[in-house]
Amino acid sequence: MSEQIQPIRGMNDILPVDTVLWQQLESLMRRILASYGYQEIRIPVVERTELFKRSIGEVTDIVEKEMYTFSDRNDVSLTLRPEATAGIVRAGISNGLLHNQRQKLWCAGPMFRYEKPQKGRYRQFHQLDVEALGYEGPDIDAELIIMSRRIWQELGIKDIELQINSLGTPESRAGYRDKLVTYFSEHMDLLDADSKNRLHRNPMRILDTKNPAMKALVDGAPLITDSLDAESSVHFQQLRNLLDDAGIAYQVNPGLVRGLDYYSRTVFEWVTDSLGAQGAVCSGGRYDGLVEHLGGRHTPAVGWALGMERLLELYRLSGAVVPEGHPDVYVIAVGDEPLRAAFRIAETLRDEYHNMKVEINCGGGSFKSQIKRADRSGATVALILGEDEVADKTVGLKLLREQSDQQSVAWDAIGDVVIDAVGMSNK
Ligand code: ATP
Ligand code: MG
Repeated sequence: MSEQIQPIRGMNDILPVDTVLWQQLESLMRRILASYGYQEIRIPVVERTELFKRSIGEVTDIVEKEMYTFSDRNDVSLTLRPEATAGIVRAGISNGLLHNQRQKLWCAGPMFRYEKPQKGRYRQFHQLDVEALGYEGPDIDAELIIMSRRIWQELGIKDIELQINSLGTPESRAGYRDKLVTYFSEHMDLLDADSKNRLHRNPMRILDTKNPAMKALVDGAPLITDSLDAESSVHFQQLRNLLDDAGIAYQVNPGLVRGLDYYSRTVFEWVTDSLGAQGAVCSGGRYDGLVEHLGGRHTPAVGWALGMERLLELYRLSGAVVPEGHPDVYVIAVGDEPLRAAFRIAETLRDEYHNMKVEINCGGGSFKSQIKRADRSGATVALILGEDEVADKTVGLKLLREQSDQQSVAWDAIGDVVIDAVGMSNK
């Protein structure tokens, strides 16, 4: 045997036992997104490296340490998308979606970051990303948060909490930035290497540090909420009113500055204690400056991204009911003619009942071994075809999940009897 090729660390196969839960979550999300008027956009998994450098910012964990960057055969530097906002904004500009228009968009799929793999932190992971472009007011910020809350609610997830903050405008932030530089400069001896590096280039990132040794220093730093400009304060207050009206509890966390540049005003994060160190489930905020920064016209925008793996784990912990993927009907056929009849009958059932799962026993075998397979498949009903049944134009129908005798059903009555037996009402 040849040597096996190993999977890539931090990149997971999602197996059939798990895809059922993914699909359940995905269809719930699609429904909720549609009910708020958001439309799907699909963007490439690779973009020019420059896009992420410019949108996420050079002085960030993602750009400095986590990107999968490579040259294509033409020596163009490309990067596997570490997040979706940049690509969506690029697509909005490239396709002229943002000229005097508003867009409510969502995108789902894999993201790539070269991180240290651990539970809840992978190198290929999946996000649902939602962006509203062309909206300035706090109403859309509130809508986005309320929409995310609906997802947790419908999944029965309770252990999740909202933190919000406002970063103000770039101008008011500049004043805050100066205060931070002054504060941290007075404590140079306490700064770690990363933070020293960021002190002048991007001091707000120091607040985002994950180094526990820096916690006390960060806790004592000036608060951004004390530097907010008047308009941003009003925006923030209006958002809070709408959240209050929606019955969403939140904590104002002045330390929440998020990992990305070009955020303005609202930032938020849904966090949980149930997932250990990887507690951030969904984070987002307003990025009024990004579209312009990427070469478009000024377009205020706000969005969020949620980590599917973390949400799925949280859902499991909240007692997810895993849908079963078993067939409704398993068709057993012994002999050439019975197998041909089995194909016809199975196709007719699938024609008539689009939601019915019908599996034919492919690969042959005796009656006994096929019955065993039917049982193992988890199917509700077995349809049995031998030479006698074909001669009579009947099938044997056996309920596999209860004690009962096999009954004989005429071919033209199969649909009705099977529907009755599997308890499906919808065609
Ligand atoms: P963290 O602080 O955990 O590194 P982040 O601030 O880098 O998160 P974002 O860039 O805001 O995360 O991404 C949005 C969401 O995507 C996160 O809240 C999280 O649920 C999920 N996520 C981010 N990175 C990973 C990863 N490496 N593996 C799995 N999920 C992730
Ligand atoms: Mg991160």
